Amino acid sequence: MKQLVVATKNKKKLSEIKDILKGMNLKLLSLDAYKDVPQVLENGKTFQENAIKKAVTLARFTGELCLGEDSGLCVDVLSGEPGIYSARFSGRPACRSSRNKSDIKNNLKLLRLLKDVPAAERKAYYVCAVALADKRGLIEVVEGNCSGLIAFEPKGSAGFGYDPLFYIPKYKKTFAQLGEKIKHKMSHRYHALKKAKRIIEKYIVKSKCC
Ligand code: IMP
Repeated sequence: MKQLVVATKNKKKLSEIKDILKGMNLKLLSLDAYKDVPQVLENGKTFQENAIKKAVTLARFTGELCLGEDSGLCVDVLSGEPGIYSARFSGRPACRSSRNKSDIKNNLKLLRLLKDVPAAERKAYYVCAVALADKRGLIEVVEGNCSGLIAFEPKGSAGFGYDPLFYIPKYKKTFAQLGEKIKHKMSHRYHALKKAKRIIEKYIVKSKCC
């Protein structure tokens, strides 16, 4: 069975990716399966550049087919911010285990910036870029989006990051209230991975015959 290394250390993202990709004829590996994994500096100017950097660096390191992911929240009234800086909107997290604390700080900063912004102007969208690479280099990069509104207060406990503030008008609930069953069928990550699945399937067929 073909192996796919998911190049993220974010456990919540990893579990979303695994859930969305389940059912494929693939063994999914996380970076925990490797020692001395190189640190990838996320200094690209776009989600796609960062996703490519992660996939290419880690495919070279592991020798396996690798999936790099970069994602974030873009808020219309903030001219697309926090965008690629979503994880460090309120400052760099001290370490990986302080991610929850920094999610709370990021959400508070967002609420503060949107304090006087009325409901109709609180439009936002999540973006997810997914890059696939093998030891020879980049195979392809794809992107998925998901639109919503920024709520006036956090609600719900599922998901991560900005999910308690990301409100879906159709359901009148935030992603954190909706939970993974619904989020994983409509999120930016779902849309990007749906495209990535087709590329992986083609790659597997090609690597069997050539
Ligand atoms: P990355 O690990 O550099 O890609 O950072 C992504 C950041 O964007 C996360 O730390 C979150 O703040 C935000 N983000 C991306 N995807 C989601 C999501 O599905 N829900 C909530 N926040 C997200």
